Amino acid sequence: MQDIEKLIIIGSGPAGWTAAIYAARANLNPICYIGVPRQNPAPVLPGGQLMLTTEVENYPGFPEGITGPEMMQQFQKQAERFGTRIVGQDIQSCNFSTHPFELTTSKGDVAKAHAVIIATGATANWIGLENELRLATTGGGVSACAVCDGALPVFRDQHLAVVGGGDTAMEESAFLAKFASKVTIIHRRDQLRASKIMQKHTLDLPNVEVAWNKTVVDVIGDEKIEAVLLKDTVTGDESSLEVKGLFVAIGHTPATDFLEGAGIDFDDKGYVSLLTRNSQTNIEGVFAAGDVADQEYRQAVTAAGMGCQAAMDAERWLTEKGFG
Ligand code: NAP
Repeated sequence: MQDIEKLIIIGSGPAGWTAAIYAARANLNPICYIGVPRQNPAPVLPGGQLMLTTEVENYPGFPEGITGPEMMQQFQKQAERFGTRIVGQDIQSCNFSTHPFELTTSKGDVAKAHAVIIATGATANWIGLENELRLATTGGGVSACAVCDGALPVFRDQHLAVVGGGDTAMEESAFLAKFASKVTIIHRRDQLRASKIMQKHTLDLPNVEVAWNKTVVDVIGDEKIEAVLLKDTVTGDESSLEVKGLFVAIGHTPATDFLEGAGIDFDDKGYVSLLTRNSQTNIEGVFAAGDVADQEYRQAVTAAGMGCQAAMDAERWLTEKGFG
């Protein structure tokens, strides 16, 4: 008979690995499905968004900073040290209408588990330009997270650009304006989507300006960004803007395709909904942690905290139901 796992964790970012560390130490003998690398259109790698981040300077415990990939390697090592088993496959679909739950992998295998933690994260949306993605993955000054990368010395006292007109673009611009000489928000319309209060807070800053009705059609620079090529959405005119950093803030997409038809409740933006005050989803025994269930904070440290909560919630639930 096929083994029934106590706990399967899907995802291998800070939330997934932290859940694995806690679950392994609680003798739940977890299996972590870490996924397989793919392009979407930027690379999506096991380890999640931190695999595309150069320096992480805001995770407590690393006073000198650490690279995103190195940090994820350390998380993984720590999870393995306590016996987490790792499978390099994607989960492609879930059947939560039966118990034990059944998860089908990309190879067509079916894994069974009493409890599941969903920690598949969210991917930043990119404009999709070849040079944008190239410079984003090589530390060339293009990033999808100003809070993660914006305070790096290379961006200090420089002219930087932010693409997007939502609350994230406002928040990231205000954050960058603390270090940059100037921040230009590039927005494709003549009105921002952001809340009025965040618009005001950001646009009132003396070193923030908006390039209205503009889209980025190319990013110029070999090893480091030197400029962006803009196209006016009204006149079609092209112009160039010299910048030393480009921050793309055009939303995120939670990685939930594999949950289609599985009965999980989502919020209006497609993120997994959690019951109040814990990591429990609407399906008993299925928990979620990290960016897949959090469109607001999206930080490595908050994702790790949620992973810890999910493992503790799963352990309690398994014990209560006699599966622990
Ligand atoms: P968002 O509200 O969906 O805004 C995305 C922005 O990017 C929009 O202005 C959109 O333009 C633009 N955009 C989308 N695709 C584009 C493309 N291909 N090229 C150029 N521009 C593009 O996303 P968000 O700003 O990340 O916010 C997500 C959610 O988090 C929102 O509910 C927001 O309120 C919330 N949030 C709250 C806070 C806070 O309260 N502190 C902070 C951050 C985020 P259009 O406007 O033309 O569609």
